[in-house]
Amino acid sequence: MSTSRTVETHCPYCALQCGITLSPRLGGVELRPADFPVNRGGLCAKGWTAADLLDHPDRLLTPLVRKNPADRTSPLREATWDEALERIVAGIRRAQDTYGPDSVGAFGGGGLTNEKAYALGKFVRVALRSASIDYNGRFCMSSAATAGNRSFGVDRGLPFPLADLAEARTVLLVGANPADAMPPSMQYLDAGRAAGAKHIVVDPRRTPTAAGAHLHLQPLPGTDLALANGMLHIAIREGLVDEKYVNDRTTGFDSVRAAVAAYWPDRVERMTGVSAADLRATVHALAEAESAMILTARGAEQHSNGTDTAQAYLNLALALGLPGRPNSGYGTITGQGNGQGGREHGQKADQLPGYRKLDDPAARAHVARVWGIDPDELPGPGRSAYEMIDRLGTDGGVRVLLVLASNIAVSAPHTNRVLDRLRALDLLVVSDIFLSETAALADVVLPTAQWAEEEGTMTNLEGRVLRRHRALPPPPEVRTDLQVMAELAERLGRGKYFTADERAVFDELRRASAGGIADYAGITWERIEAEQGVFWPCPAEDHPGTPRLFAESFPTADGRARFHRVEHRDPAELPDRDYPYVLTTGRTMQHYQSGNQTRRVRALTTALPDPRAELHPDLARRHGIGAGDVVELRTRRGRAFFRVKLNDGIRPDTVFAPFHWGGSSAANGLTDPALDPYSRMPAFKACAVAIARAGGP
Ligand code: SF4
Repeated sequence: MSTSRTVETHCPYCALQCGITLSPRLGGVELRPADFPVNRGGLCAKGWTAADLLDHPDRLLTPLVRKNPADRTSPLREATWDEALERIVAGIRRAQDTYGPDSVGAFGGGGLTNEKAYALGKFVRVALRSASIDYNGRFCMSSAATAGNRSFGVDRGLPFPLADLAEARTVLLVGANPADAMPPSMQYLDAGRAAGAKHIVVDPRRTPTAAGAHLHLQPLPGTDLALANGMLHIAIREGLVDEKYVNDRTTGFDSVRAAVAAYWPDRVERMTGVSAADLRATVHALAEAESAMILTARGAEQHSNGTDTAQAYLNLALALGLPGRPNSGYGTITGQGNGQGGREHGQKADQLPGYRKLDDPAARAHVARVWGIDPDELPGPGRSAYEMIDRLGTDGGVRVLLVLASNIAVSAPHTNRVLDRLRALDLLVVSDIFLSETAALADVVLPTAQWAEEEGTMTNLEGRVLRRHRALPPPPEVRTDLQVMAELAERLGRGKYFTADERAVFDELRRASAGGIADYAGITWERIEAEQGVFWPCPAEDHPGTPRLFAESFPTADGRARFHRVEHRDPAELPDRDYPYVLTTGRTMQHYQSGNQTRRVRALTTALPDPRAELHPDLARRHGIGAGDVVELRTRRGRAFFRVKLNDGIRPDTVFAPFHWGGSSAANGLTDPALDPYSRMPAFKACAVAIARAGGP
């Protein structure tokens, strides 16, 4: 593995998309941080060690198929590409002849480049003529995206550059832990704090981010909405609402005003466990600062009321007049590497490129024209991610599933159910760089090119479109997903619609997005290089791009932001006598998503070899559990085992488990697949759990 020149590209992991350089080095490549606007020379441990993935001994280097195609339990063996692709095509034909076009589907990922996400949406609808596609972003930021679209008419994670965080005088972080999840971003928060900014964190656990804040609010998981409505109640009662902004720039406040009247502070204190005094201090810090931001992340959003929870914070931001004001606003901190771009180009069940709606006739006509097909050929919306998984192998469900850039056997909720459904498929095809837990179940495994072996673009958490560069060629028998889709389409008789050329795909994506919400029409690869990324919307090549949204108006029909009345609903599952505590899940600094990559990096596994469940010492004592013991966590869906880390900064009624592992420590073997009615987000962040000591250190 070597590169012949120094190449500037971006980290393969999270949505910060830190800039890095890869240079030739004897026996390999040298990875260094770049002075790119988001990371300014910083990297976290995951980024520093990302080159370990390139020549990792676990790397998949050839297609694999089951020795006996009729027996999923027979061993995987090496195969030629021709054999592997023929098995896939035969499986697709068999399923579609028997069950119809929607019986073949795809599950994509927020780590795919824009080009691959776009091509996958097109592949399913044009080559397979199927409605069955969704992706793991449904499990990530779909709640905040739904709320953003509802109020602002657009979903761009941060509607301002990350650097604005350093200038905001007050920052409220709700269910966000960037100190662990994306450490280089902390330089902006640290700079703000050094300049006198006030930071407040809402989290049931004292995370490193919360430990550095001026104020830490610790609500019971699942009550973040009540907390926000309580703050808005105080803002109204104490005359802190920006009435001129509300009158001039929004609609619908009267209904929200009436709804939050019932959220008086002592009631909210009883619901959430946060004192009325802390609520009041938070509202005043937001309302009285010259500039203020409210940022939510997965802790607030991954609930069965996640959309309304994000909405409640958005309502608060609007009432205080923050969106569109300098160094102020509401944003969501997107997690996956291309979590933003991954949700713009058509791999969602209900969506076409440019963030267009699949059931909008004008959108269908536009995209069909770019694709060279009749709009009537386009299928309608499909099922959301968990709803598709839940029906795999059933009547009316998907029978043949292609999985790209996802490890749903670890990352989807209620994984025991997910494993059953994957095993019920007629054919499971997984494209990956390693034999993930999902790939290990597959009938056909396709070895794919990885981050430093491919060209393309990513869109980071600010809406900044970036270039990913090829520093070295993929191994000889490894192909890009674009090559695979083009080849499969060819064998299905739809090859003329597809190309494996990344740049050609990007140029087509630009045309398909033109006039849409996420408009890339004016973004070229050359501009991205010259300008260190270009912010969408960018409708023309002479348009500067849009780092900051909403200064003048919102992209709604009347230019105003829309308040939306929301009420607290209990989590789908509440603690009871059998399951007396609340389980919440989250990230560690050392690992990323399902851990398929980071659990293979020696420096990261040395730093954190196994998952640790966090318990308050009082709770642990009550169950005879000590630090380092093994605890059994049990929910209505399964059991999992973790070593215990005592944390006197977590609520005594709450247990935290990291979700980067499968097998006997699978946090998602425990989580609740109850879905948010609007975003279809599962309730990852709150379910009822029982605990018991299962062993000593
Ligand atoms: Fe990579 Fe995210 Fe770490 Fe930056 S913060 S180095 S993008 S994982």
